[in-house]
Amino acid sequence: MATTATSAAPSPGSVQKHDEEWRAVLSPEQFRVLRKKGTEARFKGEYTKLFEEGTYACAGCATPLYKSTTKFDSGCGWPAFFDAIPGAIIQTLEPDGKRVEITCAKCDGHLGHVFKGEGFPTATDERHCVNSVSLKFNSSETSS
Ligand SMILES: [Zn+2]
Repeated sequence: MATTATSAAPSPGSVQKHDEEWRAVLSPEQFRVLRKKGTEARFKGEYTKLFEEGTYACAGCATPLYKSTTKFDSGCGWPAFFDAIPGAIIQTLEPDGKRVEITCAKCDGHLGHVFKGEGFPTATDERHCVNSVSLKFNSSETSS
């Protein structure tokens, strides 16, 4: 079985899998976005226009990342949140110095990007632009 040569040392409490393992548990589109930092088609995402009450968890490791109470309609074509659940995500400035990538703190899955100071009337003036396929919505009505 062929394996890649890259293997990062796992940190405590994190979810670390090889690409082959992720391929086995994710859909091809989830793999492309979460593991290969892809972007889903604009306005095509399952959760772009969803405003039900609940929690959005990481599609890779099921860690809760965002709450519906921080979701807002940005009109940008992807689900947008003005804040994440504390400690759930990691923000990293991309090498070009322009965009800030957001990843799941637990499994390092790519979620999208965060933009600040755009003038949205939210508490933080941040827009967490997240791919729907990186998320798994759990309605608060069905969860116990
Ligand atoms: Zn995750």
